[in-house]
Amino acid sequence: MQTKTKKSPYFYATKVLGKRMYYHIITFGCQMNEHDSEKIAGLLSGEGYRATDDLPQADIIILNTCSVRDKAEQKVFSLLGRMKPLKEQNPALILAVCGCVAQGMKGKIRQRAPYVDLVFGTQNIENLPLLLQEVRAKHRPRIEIIEGRISPTDRHNLVRQSNFKAWVTIMEGCNNFCTYCVVPYVRGRERSRSNREIATEVRELADQGIQEITLLGQNVNSYGSDLAGEVSFSGLLALLNNIPGIERIRFVTSHPKDFNSGLIYALRDLDKVCEQIHLPFQAGSNNILSAMNRRYTREEYLEKVQLLRETVPGVEISTDVIVAFPGETEEDFTQTLDVLKQVCFESIFSFIYSDRPLSQSKIKAPRLPYQTSLARFERLWQLQNQITSEINQTLIGKKMEVLVEEFSKTDPGLLTGRTRTNRLVHFAGDKSLIGRFADVEITEGGKHSLRGQLVF
Ligand code: SF4
Repeated sequence: MQTKTKKSPYFYATKVLGKRMYYHIITFGCQMNEHDSEKIAGLLSGEGYRATDDLPQADIIILNTCSVRDKAEQKVFSLLGRMKPLKEQNPALILAVCGCVAQGMKGKIRQRAPYVDLVFGTQNIENLPLLLQEVRAKHRPRIEIIEGRISPTDRHNLVRQSNFKAWVTIMEGCNNFCTYCVVPYVRGRERSRSNREIATEVRELADQGIQEITLLGQNVNSYGSDLAGEVSFSGLLALLNNIPGIERIRFVTSHPKDFNSGLIYALRDLDKVCEQIHLPFQAGSNNILSAMNRRYTREEYLEKVQLLRETVPGVEISTDVIVAFPGETEEDFTQTLDVLKQVCFESIFSFIYSDRPLSQSKIKAPRLPYQTSLARFERLWQLQNQITSEINQTLIGKKMEVLVEEFSKTDPGLLTGRTRTNRLVHFAGDKSLIGRFADVEITEGGKHSLRGQLVF
């Protein structure tokens, strides 16, 4: 969705160059990064740039990076290597790196890829127009990384990806320092936006036709704890639930230690809050949870899930699991499988542990051999595939409300939409349904999505 953008003073300078300028953004990682890319696109549009998918046409290419997994970081450098010929063909091209890898590696990015022109941090997004001007005017690279505040990028300047769904940042950063995670180092400590500011943004989104919002934060459950007199996260949900025009409210991510009964009752009582939650448990053994510094036990996690299932009928739960954390024994891993069996998650995201430069020093136990890690990863997925397939069978014949999003990427003859529980459903239907709610009866349950037919 191209929202109306304000023109900065540099806009006119961009135009007098006599040539239309183009940008291309490549985004890695989580929804927070996707949302940051919307802000970046908005700022560049305000400067007179247009989006392009044709890389040789681009005047600026921005890699918005993720450093949660080692693989994501490796991908950034391999992609930068592939961009080098573009830079050689067009020396005026500005190659920029932002996001968590930029925040964590700072100047080291240019040591590995000296042809990068601009490196900017997660808190520097709003300075992008100025940084670009400096790089162009002074013909020298620029690195700008600051820390410790929410990027105040003007929300009116976003180029949103959807006309009816939107992300809304409610807080940034994390205070938890899980031993495998770089987020507190690259996104800083927790900073919440005021509930008035968030409510104003959501009202404006509703006025623009947005029907579904996803509230973003590294740890939404501790929303407001850094602000005097602010409402709690469940209080914020209650406030947003009253905004006319918004039909669905989602949020990510929740930390099990801060996940409380207040939020469970909010999920039960607030009609627009979708009955779906992502609640990462990471490991089933208390030894490993302690080594990860997660600050909850397996028993506490299972108790909270039980209360959630009893209180919120039909709730679907997804999770994150780390396999082969250093020191993980066969018994520890068996306990992870046991949590999977007890909870029956509708979906999981799992990773084999990899060392992260900023946090790995806290982990003393020996790393597991790759073959052992891979074998455990495969056993985990065998079990989860079986659980998912059994759950999906129980959905056949059920009528579900979907928000219709687009034509299917894999089968353009079908529409796709998402249920309140965030299930992807493919079904035959007319283009006019896109952006609207429809009732679909589930006819088939696949591994990653469902199939259905419209109910009239
Ligand atoms: S809670 Fe742990 S895993 Fe989540 S962002 Fe914070 S440090 Fe990282």
